Amino acid sequence: MSELLFPLPAPVLPIIGSTQMFPIGRIFCVGRNYAAHAREMGADPTREAPFFFMKPASAATLERALPYPSGTASLHHEVELVVAIGAKGAIAGYGVGVDLTKRDRQDEAKKAGRPWEESKSFPRSAPVSALRAAKDVPNAGDARIVLSVNGAVRQESRTSHLIWSVGEVIERLTAMHELTAGDLIFTGTPEGVGPLERGDAVGAEIEGVGELAFSLS
Ligand code: MN
Repeated sequence: MSELLFPLPAPVLPIIGSTQMFPIGRIFCVGRNYAAHAREMGADPTREAPFFFMKPASAATLERALPYPSGTASLHHEVELVVAIGAKGAIAGYGVGVDLTKRDRQDEAKKAGRPWEESKSFPRSAPVSALRAAKDVPNAGDARIVLSVNGAVRQESRTSHLIWSVGEVIERLTAMHELTAGDLIFTGTPEGVGPLERGDAVGAEIEGVGELAFSLS
């Protein structure tokens, strides 16, 4: 039998109330999936089909004390409903995630017509909560989603405001990417994105799904 040249940790997420862990294969993220956020980013939410970008599975982190990343002076928070795909393409569970974004790097990439990886795919760019099993989340389609910084609410909406519903997003990803067990989907962020500073305490919650809290240093 052959051995690995070096150990590589397999990214996993706990599942609330279960001894089993969810192994993360890929992370898909939906761009501009709340109309008010699309408008705050200068886009027209009525004319776009859903589009996606990716983060490496290793970007998902359960760490709760995160270093402010290098190469940016404008690290933004984007709270998102996370969907976890299980066996046979069924939704295994839901979680709370923050799509951390180097907004200055993203703005440069957009202007230059370049990919978004520098702004979206860096280490620890996807803090995420434990998953709650789908059978325990009857309200995923209409849940309050909120993010606070140092106790002050910055983002607040409902998942019913998604332009492309979870089902529609899954349909599109299935067609384009052969969605498979282990895939996580960050379904997009509502309005109110903004910068984080060193020392900030971030709290995120999705009603009936879970909570996530982390700090930056
Ligand atoms: Mn996002």
